Amino acid sequence: MSSNPIGTPIAAGAIERLRAAAGPGGALEDPSDTAPYCKSFRDGWEGRVPLVLRPQTTAAVADVVRICAEAGIGVVPQGGNTGLTGGSQPHADMSEIILSTSRLNQIRAIDIVNDTIVVEAGVVLKAVQSAAERVDRLFPLSLGAEGSCQIGGNISTNAGGVQVLRYGNMRNLVLGLEVVLPDGSVWNGLRALRKDNAGYDMKQVFIGAEGTLGIVTAAVLRLLPKPTASETAWIGLASPAAAVALLGHMRARLGETISAFELIGRSALDLLLAGVPGHEDPMSQVHPWYVLMELTSQGVAGSLNAPLADALAAALERELIGDALLAASGAQAAKLWRMRESLVEAQQAAGGSIAHDVSVPVSRIADFIARADAALAAACPGMRHCAFGHVGDGNIHYNPVRPLDWNAARLRQERARVNRIVHDIVADLGGSISAEHGVGQSRLEELEHYKQSVELDMMRSLKRALDPHGIMNPGKLLVR
Ligand SMILES: Cc1cc2nc3c(=O)[nH]c(=O)nc-3n(C[C@H](O)[C@H](O)[C@H](O)COP(=O)(O)OP(=O)(O)OC[C@H]3O[C@@H](n4cnc5c(N)ncnc54)[C@H](O)[C@@H]3O)c2cc1C
Repeated sequence: MSSNPIGTPIAAGAIERLRAAAGPGGALEDPSDTAPYCKSFRDGWEGRVPLVLRPQTTAAVADVVRICAEAGIGVVPQGGNTGLTGGSQPHADMSEIILSTSRLNQIRAIDIVNDTIVVEAGVVLKAVQSAAERVDRLFPLSLGAEGSCQIGGNISTNAGGVQVLRYGNMRNLVLGLEVVLPDGSVWNGLRALRKDNAGYDMKQVFIGAEGTLGIVTAAVLRLLPKPTASETAWIGLASPAAAVALLGHMRARLGETISAFELIGRSALDLLLAGVPGHEDPMSQVHPWYVLMELTSQGVAGSLNAPLADALAAALERELIGDALLAASGAQAAKLWRMRESLVEAQQAAGGSIAHDVSVPVSRIADFIARADAALAAACPGMRHCAFGHVGDGNIHYNPVRPLDWNAARLRQERARVNRIVHDIVADLGGSISAEHGVGQSRLEELEHYKQSVELDMMRSLKRALDPHGIMNPGKLLVR
């Protein structure tokens, strides 16, 4: 290890060695080539690097990391760059390199007897879903960015999405990992085992670590039976409390066939209809809240239609819901899902929002939304409501949208104050300030504020043990 402290510009000699280690065509240096890697999709995170490296093999990743360890150079791992917390953007001091996994993109093996697939970190999520489908299996992780996010990023953020209710998040879908550690050594933990109690489960340490402990280069993922029957319903109802009651009602009748259960506020839908072309209100009557629900099973096509219709009729009778629409075709179901997936775009079209990706116990969701709405109405008059999320996981994206009389600078200025108001309520209800997007740079201060000091100390000890010189994604997840 050199004496170069993290945060100082990179020496020319090290740049030359890194360029060579990344292999032919593996280094980008021109600012016009590196710029897209340095910017976030949302929220204005932006830095600068002298090099973006795109190695094609695990051995090349290890070589790059070894040089960085020797020279004290910060490494920012990057997958599809769709993260929402500034985790994959560098700082602006030219002291770091970005290590992009985009060319580490091979599907190494599929074992249909073991129901597993081995993929490299840079394989795009959608490509993993398609590979599973080709062998009549399901890879159930599903989220709005699935056409560009990569498996390494999904693992490093422990991604969630719309099917966590039934299949769990990324943590539940990973059986084994290959990781380049911060000293450049390679841990081959690509075990395709469902039971393995031979010591600490080290893969779990890297899942959700946001690139601060090592670079995931490949993974063994679980595959599941491909559903053969599915139904989608769009349901209008009065309140978040009604949505939670409906979830209980549906679970009692339809059990594990419920694969997604998404809450959408009318105000979020209004922003979508006003700001993003190509969508229309699925119902003629307006309802204050909606649930987008999906059922899947291994039964014959159409076999879930009658049980769903019966369960909805019983919900109407109990006055849990106001109206329901069953998608008549796959195309109509896809249209409904596109509405859910376009809600991020809707907030941008409306002038930007202050995002909160929070979770509370399912039993406290209604309480959380009511308290947060009231607190913000008092603190920031004119703030427009925008709440939606994964009810079954207690995960709400509570993203109030800029009041019409604020400009973008005022929105940025108010972010910390609004965050504190919302997160204080979350903490009071026993919730988490980051349910699925992670900490990155955007939640650093909030993590320090809300996490128990004992827990922060454990996290720092782990970081020091694996990355004593602090080269892996410096200043992300934990304060530098
Ligand atoms: C429209 C939209 C919808 C979204 N919906 C959801 C959703 O429903 N659920 C959800 O959980 N997220 C969602 N996200 C957030 C994002 O897509 C996920 O966090 C995704 O898992 C990030 O993958 P990525 O490849 O883009 O990672 P990046 O953004 O490139 O990186 C994310 C973090 O992981 C680290 N990292 C990346 N690759 C590696 C690696 N190989 N080894 C070590 N560290 C690495 C980075 O340093 C960074 O800290 C959404 C984003 C968008 C834009």
